[in-house]
Amino acid sequence: MNRDPRYDILFQPMKIGPVTAKNRFYQVPHCNGMGHQHPQAHAAMRGMKAEGGWAVVSTEECEIHWTGDISPYIEARLWDDHDIPHNAMMCEAVHRHGALAAIELTHNGPSSSNLTSREALIGPRHEPASYHPWQARRMDRADIRDYRRWHRDAALRAKQAGFDIVYVYAGHDLSLAMHFLQKRRNDRSDEYGGSLENRVRLFRELIEDVKDAVGDRCGVAVRFAVEEMMGNYGITSEGEGREVVEMLAELPDLWDVNVSNWKYDSMTSRFAEEGFQEKYIAFVKKLTSKPVVGVGRYTSADHMVKLIKSGVLDFIGAARPSIADPFLPRKIEEGRIEDIRECIGCNICVTGDHLITPIRCTQNPTMGEEWRKEWHPEVIAPRASESSVLIVGAGPAGLEAARALGQRGYDVHLAEATTEPGGRVNAESALPGLGAWGRVRDYRLFQIGKMPNVTLYRDSRLSAAEIRDFGFEHVVLATGATWRKDGVGRSHAYAIAGFETAAVFSPDDIMAGRMPARGPVALYDDDNFYMGGVLAEKLRQAGLEVTLVTVADVASSWSANTLEVVHINKRLRKLGIGIVTAKDIERYHDGELHLGCVYGGAGSILPAAAVVSVTARLPNENLWFELNDDQPSLVAAGIKSVTRIGDCLAPGLIAQAVYDGHRYAQSFDRPKSDAVPFRRAMPLVTVP
Ligand code: ADP
Ligand code: SF4
Repeated sequence: MNRDPRYDILFQPMKIGPVTAKNRFYQVPHCNGMGHQHPQAHAAMRGMKAEGGWAVVSTEECEIHWTGDISPYIEARLWDDHDIPHNAMMCEAVHRHGALAAIELTHNGPSSSNLTSREALIGPRHEPASYHPWQARRMDRADIRDYRRWHRDAALRAKQAGFDIVYVYAGHDLSLAMHFLQKRRNDRSDEYGGSLENRVRLFRELIEDVKDAVGDRCGVAVRFAVEEMMGNYGITSEGEGREVVEMLAELPDLWDVNVSNWKYDSMTSRFAEEGFQEKYIAFVKKLTSKPVVGVGRYTSADHMVKLIKSGVLDFIGAARPSIADPFLPRKIEEGRIEDIRECIGCNICVTGDHLITPIRCTQNPTMGEEWRKEWHPEVIAPRASESSVLIVGAGPAGLEAARALGQRGYDVHLAEATTEPGGRVNAESALPGLGAWGRVRDYRLFQIGKMPNVTLYRDSRLSAAEIRDFGFEHVVLATGATWRKDGVGRSHAYAIAGFETAAVFSPDDIMAGRMPARGPVALYDDDNFYMGGVLAEKLRQAGLEVTLVTVADVASSWSANTLEVVHINKRLRKLGIGIVTAKDIERYHDGELHLGCVYGGAGSILPAAAVVSVTARLPNENLWFELNDDQPSLVAAGIKSVTRIGDCLAPGLIAQAVYDGHRYAQSFDRPKSDAVPFRRAMPLVTVP
């Protein structure tokens, strides 16, 4: 198939200083929790983007010096020449597919930790570290000279490693170049402080230094946050952000512009639409002749064309859309836009960085597994037998198992109890702000629909007897899980007294429309991710008075890992939802919830005509026991294996259910082994 001529413009080659990108698809820097600690995995992940057609593939932040060590976060490193081979590995993987490799050099100043190096932090002035109870010292002129030299040396190392584009980074409220720009951080009275001209000096010098050092062969890009979302306390796109672009307009070879900080740059779909940054960055192209790249969770090819034609962007920047579908450009080029696995904007990818573990993605179960497991987002081993598989349950686990087994060529039968496949994704994507999550279902249903060897049976709730009667050789139970409503969960090992009454509802009740008839409603959130907050919104939308109660110190606390905790807490307050933190439930009695303080303070009583209990789920595993408890019937039916996957095995995130379905399909028909099921990068141990 060929691409639609409407999209030709997306495939025009573009010059970035001395190098040329083969098209306009640009994977901007993004964290991944692999960095310098998992170099092979990192290189393979970046190489996959290049294979998928991205013309430019960037690293994440790259520490240029140990005085800007951002441990425990795992990013790229170029402290000295020893770090060159790791980075060269990525360049080779990217170059193999004709793409350009870019590196984002940074020294994070007071936003570093120096927990590994134990050096004193440095910054434009004496100030507390951004995330730790110690301080950064004010840099003097000699420090600034050192910093410029380290930055220049890192650029030279980057060139030696094979990078084609070298970034000077002034974004996300993270790097020294940005800290010097910010008037709230820069109270210097020397030539690096005071007027904007002075505050921009260091940024300008860094760009000039890098151009001088490597500009003959490498494009020099800047990443600059034009807007900090804090009014005049910060950089604004109408004020100093604009002035900085005016002052440096023609100096870099490329402008990569966004908003700051990270929680605003990588807004989830719950809080922002595709293209949400356009109103802030649209001015940049009017001020420079250099190419401009910007991001906004772009997955629509038509929207991309509009951005180019209307003069907003020259390159379509992407982090998350390139994670969810490394082959997005290739699919547009080959006229297969309906095959794009669109990012759902859930930020599970971001949690890897925050939790210091390799990246994972809800939509793309192969993300982060390119080297570890040699998984490819588009290619999978063909079937190894004529086996047939019955999958029971078409939630994310069942759908992905069916899709991937179908891709391998197996004869797959997918039975779904309801008329609408999708499982929990159907219910959750109907909750306020989560509509884009339906893409998990839609992508898989569309793919399965094209496969003659996969049959989907709707409205087919199967019993153990029916499963046996079908006589398929392999049975997969993907029947999901059910929220409990007895209060048992992380904080309560035993049922909460009073939760046995009809006034207590589970998330499944609320999602199915079984709402309390009247308020006030107390929502007990012992799960602390998105579900509690989003159900509180739904109840509020129905006109009920709602209070969210949690033992945590902040509502939806785990959402800090998806960059949402501030957005959620703002929204709950804006909607007039009460929030009670650090309180646990002692009992529910006579329309009153008796609360105890988790820190031993005074208890309190919350009137509650109804309670919604968001604590834990139990797997729907009846079929598993019914089938396994009767081994003779299983054998007689010719069933060789029964396997639980997804929430039916262990309730978890949608990302885990998709992954589990994919893993089942990948390992199907392969010998079982006790060996570690993935490759690991082992440090070399030398005997002294
Ligand atoms: P997961 O996240 O593991 O994919 P879900 O709860 O999203 O789990 O999906 C489970 C799906 O299984 C639901 O769509 C449900 O209707 C279906 N299901 C549950 N029991 C049966 C059964 N006995 N026969 C067929 N489908 C079932
Ligand atoms: Fe998009 Fe979610 Fe995947 Fe991140 S984890 S790339 S937000 S689908």
